[in-house]
Amino acid sequence: MQVTAIREAECPQCKKRTSIPVPVPARSDDRASARLGTRFGERRSVTCPDGHSYWVAL
Ligand SMILES: [Zn+2]
Repeated sequence: MQVTAIREAECPQCKKRTSIPVPVPARSDDRASARLGTRFGERRSVTCPDGHSYWVAL
């Protein structure tokens, strides 16, 4: 079972914050498998409330 954390990203154009879900390991044992889901350096596309699209490094 995977737990999801909320991370806030700030739009570079209008500075509005958008919450994005980030998968995190539920137990320490799951840490290795969770890394496979969200690799270090992975970037995610985010669209702010005003419709600006930008990338956020997780
Ligand atoms: Zn924006």
